Amino acid sequence: MKLKVQKEIFIKALENDYPAEEVLSFFFLLTEAFFGIKRIDLALDPEVEIDEIQAGKFGSALSRLKNHEPIQHIIGETEFFGLIFKVDRNVLVPRPETEELVQWILDDFSSGNNALKILDIGTGSGCIAISLAKNLPQAKISAIDISEKALEIAKINAEINKVNLDLIQQDILELEKLLQNFDLIVSNPPYVRELEKKEMHRNVLEYDPPTALYVKDENPLLFYYKITKLAKNALKSGGKLYFEINQYLAKETEEMMQEHGFKTELRRDIFGNFRMLKGELIKVI
Ligand code: GLN
Repeated sequence: MKLKVQKEIFIKALENDYPAEEVLSFFFLLTEAFFGIKRIDLALDPEVEIDEIQAGKFGSALSRLKNHEPIQHIIGETEFFGLIFKVDRNVLVPRPETEELVQWILDDFSSGNNALKILDIGTGSGCIAISLAKNLPQAKISAIDISEKALEIAKINAEINKVNLDLIQQDILELEKLLQNFDLIVSNPPYVRELEKKEMHRNVLEYDPPTALYVKDENPLLFYYKITKLAKNALKSGGKLYFEINQYLAKETEEMMQEHGFKTELRRDIFGNFRMLKGELIKVI
């Protein structure tokens, strides 16, 4: 069968489920993942053929997309900060906003002393820790997660990207204090309130791991509060704490950090929402 015929079938099958542009992008993500055929290849050779087994792969991807399974789960991997990450239901699919947080950290630290000690709390796929490790090769990076299964994925991702991470299984809420000092602590903890679920898409609601996302409406800053307290004791003087935050709770999160003695800065993401917060610890000695 000609690939261009398969393309028409694919577009028709999903036309009521997703916007047309998104369907097209799914199609080419799949042709590249399955057969190494890129958009440009099909443009250059519109007559390219696929066999029955290959066409069958499309059939299964189609039914998964109809169930709103994330394309990243179907392919089994995604790109983040120019690197490849394996993903499945045990980890949050890395988001483009989080790339901006990584970029902010690199802008702050790339030119300085690279022998940094860094901690990533709630690492999931490892996307933040691994992107930092790749770009700050002298840094010593530890990454904590509550989920053993997430840590297995983070370990594979560290191997794929050829970096060393110290991976630690730990429920941060149970931790009294961090046992080492750090120059930099970063976290993208759960921050979506139950009341915000109605804004979310099925691919997130049904397939991302709930422990990575949700907090109770009554106590949405639970993780921020705990991590700020831990960081206050574990950061070296002048050390920095970076958070990805809930856009609707930016002010409260910032004030909470200030109350703990941090000098803060908020930043918006590409979508114009307050999404990142940095705190610099001013220690009085
Ligand atoms: N930004 C993510 C989302 O929209 C939430 C990430 C988180 O809770 N840490 O689903």
